[in-house]
This record gives sequence, structure tokens and C-alpha cells, in this order.
Amino acid sequence: MFDKILVANRGEIALRVIRAAREMGIASVAVHSTADADAMHVRMADESVCIGPPPSSESYLSIPSIIAACEVTGAQAIHPGYGFLSENANFVQIVEDHGLTFIGPSAEHIRIMGDKITAKDTMKALGVPCVPGSEGGIADVAAAKALCAEIGFPVIVKATAGGGGRGMKVAQSAAELERAFLTARSEAKAAFGNDEVYIEKYLTTPRHIEIQVFGDGKGRAVHLGERDCSLQRRHQKVLEEAPGPCITEEERARIGKICADACANINYRGAGTIEFLYENGAFFFIEMNTRLQVEHPVTEAIFGVDLVQEQIRVAEGLPMSFTQEDLRINGHAIEVRINAEKLPDFAPRPGRITQFHAPGGLGVRMDSALYDGYKIPPYYDSLIAKLIVHGVDRPAALNRLARALGELIVDGVDTTVPLFHALLQEEDIQRGTYNIHWLERWLETNLRA
Ligand code: ADP
Repeated sequence: MFDKILVANRGEIALRVIRAAREMGIASVAVHSTADADAMHVRMADESVCIGPPPSSESYLSIPSIIAACEVTGAQAIHPGYGFLSENANFVQIVEDHGLTFIGPSAEHIRIMGDKITAKDTMKALGVPCVPGSEGGIADVAAAKALCAEIGFPVIVKATAGGGGRGMKVAQSAAELERAFLTARSEAKAAFGNDEVYIEKYLTTPRHIEIQVFGDGKGRAVHLGERDCSLQRRHQKVLEEAPGPCITEEERARIGKICADACANINYRGAGTIEFLYENGAFFFIEMNTRLQVEHPVTEAIFGVDLVQEQIRVAEGLPMSFTQEDLRINGHAIEVRINAEKLPDFAPRPGRITQFHAPGGLGVRMDSALYDGYKIPPYYDSLIAKLIVHGVDRPAALNRLARALGELIVDGVDTTVPLFHALLQEEDIQRGTYNIHWLERWLETNLRA
């Protein structure tokens, strides 16, 4: 059993991990930049170490500083949270070379899934259905044209090293292809230092459905159903729910088994998410995330499990605490991502929180590192809170979300809360009939006006 783990992250996810560890009797070490000296994760952890100046590249992404913090404090394992170093295979290798445990999958699996072309090839070979598109990278405009003549328009050009919705460009017709190809390539180069791109058929009305998987690293793996994350802005998730409003029990069982079997097959360890686009009853794999996701709480709510504690268990070499048969869905859960951003442009709004009050009551979970007087630093992601509600069914969860949003007070900065109040009035949201393009269109007509 670990005595002490280091959390290589900040904000709400650092708190999430510290809480899970504390309940297991494991001490926690927070790391922080100088900009985060007063942050809640530093206050809540048992110990803390300052690892550098505000820019993440010199603190939260500084591998030597994080390893040194482990050595100084005697932490035996590192939980990476999401973002930062969570999907950095090189980091995992270094952690292990120092005799420490990485709470997450193997460096090899992170490497495979981090390269989207290799990920697709691997999944295809494991029997997972994929979006039709190029076999591997596309070298030049001529190759792109030849492929699109075959698969037809529209297409989407995507960065092999992509993430966070960047480096993706849609071409509706042959006339738009060259520009989409060249822009995606230069964006990919700038964002990821790798300009390789590939092409997929662009699905016009899909939903984003992702399957939560969990493996023990020794050939056993389960799935924990799906999350529907179709409400997106600029390919980034805004609201997530589980179960998916349009997914049947049979579909869940079938795609879930395909995913669990794929993970068992490769001895996948820990939490993972296999992302699909879903259109006309068919699933198309787009990518696998080899980490805990921002939206994991909706899955925890409906299955009554603690995914972080489970990650810690399997990292210690213990068996998973549940089998596929133990996992039964109970009710419906919805998460909204509350960002310090000003509508209608979603411009980041760091600043001081003058008053904060978290909603409470039955079925309400608030994952946030905010407190009265906290100053949100300008250097990091604008996500400041996740509000998760759980109800006996979808209508009950929606009512609870409206009630909880009404109780929430975040004063001093602009947030995306008004967006959720407005969305809850929409029939499509109430009925669950939305696809990945719905929110962009809604924003165009409702917020620009
Ligand atoms: P990232 O790793 O940057 O998040 P993903 O491959 O997961 O990129 O895609 C993010 C989002 O982009 C998807 O949820 C979907 O909205 C959109 N997208 C990706 N591929 C396609 C596609 N082939 N057709 C339509 N939309 C797509």
C-alpha cells in the first residue's frame, strides 16, 4: 500500500485526487507554481512543494522538479490528473526509472494512443469500428485530393498529435481542401511540434459518445457505459451526461464489450476513455484518452464507484474492486463545466472571487477549488468548477441542475453559468435531441443577436 502520493496537477482535479487518497489513508503531496501558493490544493494536501514560476512549462510540466518533489517528500507514486503530464509517455518512463509508480497506464499504451494514427490502427486491429478515412498520414495536397476523391466530401483534416480540439479543419468540397490541409498542418506544427495530419470522413450529424473503460493491467477489463458529450464549442465539451439519452441497453452492452475486450487484450491498466462519433445507430472510433477525464464524475454518479481510488488500487497491483456484473446503472447524471469566461465570446476572465457559495443538497456534487477571496491566476485553464447532479432519471437530473445552478454564487468574475441557465430552457436540451453541432448553431443565433 502507498503511504504517500504526489499530485502533479492543480485546481479541482488536484482536490479530487487528494480527497480520494485521504479516504484511503494515503497522505498527499501537492505541487504548485509561485502563482498558486494560495491555491486550495496546496491548503488541502498534507504537504506541498513549490516547483517553479507561473508558466506551466516551468512548473506543472517540469519533470525534474516533480521528480525532485517526490524525492524530497518521500512520495511513492504520482497521480497526474488530466492535462499537463497525464498523457506524456516520456514522463511515465522517467517516473518508473526513478523507482516511482505512475498512477495510470503504461508508457507504451500512452504512446500508442497519443499518436492518433497508431491508435486507429491498433483499435481497428482489435475489432473496434473506426471513422472511414486515410490509412496513416497524408503527405501532401495531391495525396489528400486523391483520398477525398475516393471517400467523398465533407472531410476533416486532423493532427496526428492532436488534442484539445486543435489542428482540425473541415473541407466541405474539393475547392476547400487545399486550404484546410495547409491550415491544419501549420496549426498542428505550432501547437504540437508535429505537422503530420490525416483525413477522416466528416460526419454531419453525429453525437459524441465515449465509453469509460477500466483495466487491471493483467488482462481483465470492464466498461462503465457511455457518456454523451455532444454539447461542444470549438470541439471542446461544455456539458456531459450519462447514460447517453439516445443509447439503448443493447447498444451499450455491444459497444461496451468491444471496448472492454480491446482493453483486456492489450492488458490496459487503469482508467481510459474510448471516444466515438455515433450516427444512425453506428459507432465510429475517433480517439482514446489514456487518463481520467474531466467528465468522469457523471460515470461515478450512475455506477456508484470511485474511479480515482480504483486507479490507485490497480497502480498498487491490487485487483479491481468490481466486475462487469457488479456494474449497474442507477439514474441519470449531468455535469456542466463552469469556466471563468465572459459571454458571448468566452474570453477568459481571471480575477478575484469576492463571494463563493457552492450548491448542495441531495444528488449535487461540486468539484471546485474556489473559495471566498481566491484570485484566479491568468496562467492556466479557465475551468473553475464542475457542477454534477444525479437524479432518478433524466428529467429529475435536469430539474436538479436548474435548482443547483440557482443556488450557486460566484461573484467577482464572469462565468459561463448564464449559458447553462439559458440552455436548460431549450426543448432540445430537455429532450436530449442534440448533436455535436447543436451548440455552435445555438450560440450563433442566441448569443450573437
Ligand atoms: P481532440 O483530441 O482534439 O479532442 P477528437 O478527435 O477527440 O480531437 O475530436 C474532438 C471533436 O471534434 C469530436 O468530439 C467531434 O465533435 C469533432 N470531430 C472529430 N472527428 C470528426 C469527424 N470525423 N466528423 C465530425 N466531427 C468530428
